[in-house]
Amino acid sequence: MNIDDLLTPLGLDARNQQAGTLAVCSPIDGAEIARVPECTTQDAHLAIDAAQEAFMAWRTVPAPRRGELVRLLGDELRANKQALGRLVSMEAGKILAEGTGEVQEMIDICDFAVGLSRQLYGLTIASERPGHRMMETWHPLGVVGVISAFNFPVAVWSWNTALAIVCGDAVVWKPSEKTPLTALACQALFDRAAAKFGNAPAKLSQVLIGGREIGQALAAHHRVALVSATGSTRMGRELSPIVAARFGRCLLELGGNNAIIVGPTADLDMALRGILFGAVGTAGQRCTSTRRLIVHESVADELVARLKQAYDSARIGSPLEPDTLVGPLIDRAAYDGMQRALESARRQGGKATGGERRLADEYPQAWYVEPALVEMPAQTEVVLQETFAPILYVMRYKTFDEAVDMQNGVPQGLSSAIFTNDLREAEQFMSVTGSDCGIANVNIGTSGAEIGGAFGGEKETGGGRESGSDAWKAYMRRATNTINYSRELPLAQGITFGS
Ligand code: NAD
Repeated sequence: MNIDDLLTPLGLDARNQQAGTLAVCSPIDGAEIARVPECTTQDAHLAIDAAQEAFMAWRTVPAPRRGELVRLLGDELRANKQALGRLVSMEAGKILAEGTGEVQEMIDICDFAVGLSRQLYGLTIASERPGHRMMETWHPLGVVGVISAFNFPVAVWSWNTALAIVCGDAVVWKPSEKTPLTALACQALFDRAAAKFGNAPAKLSQVLIGGREIGQALAAHHRVALVSATGSTRMGRELSPIVAARFGRCLLELGGNNAIIVGPTADLDMALRGILFGAVGTAGQRCTSTRRLIVHESVADELVARLKQAYDSARIGSPLEPDTLVGPLIDRAAYDGMQRALESARRQGGKATGGERRLADEYPQAWYVEPALVEMPAQTEVVLQETFAPILYVMRYKTFDEAVDMQNGVPQGLSSAIFTNDLREAEQFMSVTGSDCGIANVNIGTSGAEIGGAFGGEKETGGGRESGSDAWKAYMRRATNTINYSRELPLAQGITFGS
């Protein structure tokens, strides 16, 4: 399909997308599909100033009315789900079901945010002083800077933007330089929703196409009240000191190194499906991809043999073909990183199957791989790192405590799961002495979060929470109010001061 046929219905002028300096290559075949204009740091500063102006107007619009704009955005996404999902597949290389699934997640967060627009409430708190009432009020925060990764090129923006908009904030988004077209399409859909809304301030949502320097401009600018950054732990480590130096707020969603434990009582059919989707889905390029399998020695031989069979039958190919399960890696650097990790794993005693390049004749400029299964003698150095590719390290265990120690023994803390039919194991896994991750699942895999729950993780994953539950609080500021309706002025803690 010609890319212009997708861009035009999504509201993008196809000619503009060929006139810039940033080449966009589809990971499907490596071909250049667009050349988009890039922003300068000065453009970023102007955009932040304009966003601040938009914020000053938007913060006074009642929250349920703000929700109406997000409802209209949800309508645009519903109407354009197939086209945007296909563009995600072309630009990020996900299979079509995952591309449209990502757009469905955007629709879901819009629905969630519309309901939330009538529920931004604070607490009323008992005061120790007679004739007094304490309460808290949540106010819009300011300009929210969003930095996103290539692998969820549209959903992460919507997780942030749908909430930020109902919370009364303005948004400036720097998407991954690998996926600018989907970002421009989202912005065009937002602009359509804003036009239907009627009187939304100009520049309430903006997109800045560019590299790290644009992300750093957002991090450094005093007007950006919250920097919500999704990407590698390396990125978070570079970015967060810049925000901290000006006492700004950061919401970090960084790398994961997610494990599934399979206990002796597990339903192996279910475990197999959960592991397969988690480890080879999106070609191992999800932050929640399953990277480690910690399997009880009594079921390990059977499970590994069945996994190898399942791996053999997972079709690798163009993500646009309906029966493909494993699409390409994003680029050559990802392929090289995978090969380096496999070499290290072999040096550290691992026995690898898979990992070879595939379809090189058909797509010499693209990077398809056979997902790799690596049986490790222990959780060695290479297993502690997140390699953003389909490598599943398999380790065996004897006791439950040993399995939990292994699960927690990595620097990252995003997603985790256990397959078990033992109630004690399930409960302990979710308890304080169990998984140390932000997500701990029982009898479902590590990937495939749904809107409603807060999403994010601990340790080097950065500690941020997005999307569901009370994640909205990150996009607002809290004021504590004490009201005295008595005729006295008692001080707290019984202090007397003067006569
Ligand atoms: P990346 O860190 O290379 O880039 C992410 C974004 O940060 C891009 O927009 C990039 O331009 C920007 N960036 C990079 N360095 C920066 C810097 N020093 N200052 C400012 N901005 C900077 O990540 P990627 O390769 O696009 O994505 C894969 C990574 O993202 C993986 O580690 C994955 O686990 C993580 N990820 C995490 C989540 C989550 O929710 N926890 C979700 C998706 C992806």
